Amino acid sequence: MNGKLQGKRAVITGAAGGIGKATAALFLKEGAKLMLVDVKAEELKKIASDFHSEDVEFFVADVSKKEEVKKYAEAALKAFGGIDIFFNNAGIEGVASPFYDYPDDMFDKILDVNVKGVWYGCKYVIPKMSEKASVIITSSVAGLKGFAGLGPYVLSKHAVIGIMRVVALESAERKIRVNSVHPGPVNNRMMRSLEEKISPENPDAVQKGFEGQIPFHRYAENEDIARQVLYLASDDSAYITGTTNVVDGGMLLT
Ligand code: NAD
Repeated sequence: MNGKLQGKRAVITGAAGGIGKATAALFLKEGAKLMLVDVKAEELKKIASDFHSEDVEFFVADVSKKEEVKKYAEAALKAFGGIDIFFNNAGIEGVASPFYDYPDDMFDKILDVNVKGVWYGCKYVIPKMSEKASVIITSSVAGLKGFAGLGPYVLSKHAVIGIMRVVALESAERKIRVNSVHPGPVNNRMMRSLEEKISPENPDAVQKGFEGQIPFHRYAENEDIARQVLYLASDDSAYITGTTNVVDGGMLLT
């Protein structure tokens, strides 16, 4: 039986992380060929080999460095002869601090990875994509509301909605669709790290606090996000572009 992505060629950044890896596994199951990109070389190699598939390539790159972005875009084109799906997903959480104490070097780092990384990805990958391709950018519920203590992260996730909207407009002529996905808190490394940063003495209480703001009373699993990304990547969403897709168990309702 053909999968929803049979014969499609996908590039995924942040592929060694929770959401990226879960999405890669789902895309592979649905018949896609994959180029996995991440800055963490050892984890990326391990994940690529865990998949045991000839349809999986990997490329170690820092998405905030444009020369490295150009290289992974070239490598994907060379490996597959075309690119149909781009999951522009890599991101970092930074630290937890009020804006007046937020370390300037971390502000710069978050903007470099979460904003410039997404921008360079669009700039250097999309021109290599086939007509009717699909681009999915990972924002967050933090792209749609404020979270105290996470200023630069919130700023960066708002910024990528702007990138998504402009790039969607400018790519429509080639029938390339561009959408963003907005996870609420996800049960993975990034949230564990944030919980520790917000309250080193009681990270579990931070999780309980977030869960209290979610009508479904639980964090998302990586696979909850991957399924929405699959929908946006597949022809099931052929007429959908320029949209913000919230996957948050109702968090933004509260
Ligand atoms: P994660 O930390 O498990 O994965 C992020 C991945 O991005 C890591 O593998 C990391 O090595 C990679 N990465 C970081 N900087 C990079 C760089 N400069 N170049 C290349 N790769 C880099 O967390 P995740 O939850 O899988 O995060 C994926 C995306 O989802 C991020 O954009 C994140 O902001 C967003 N998000 C996460 C949550 C959550 O609760 N975890 C919620 C909303 C949005």
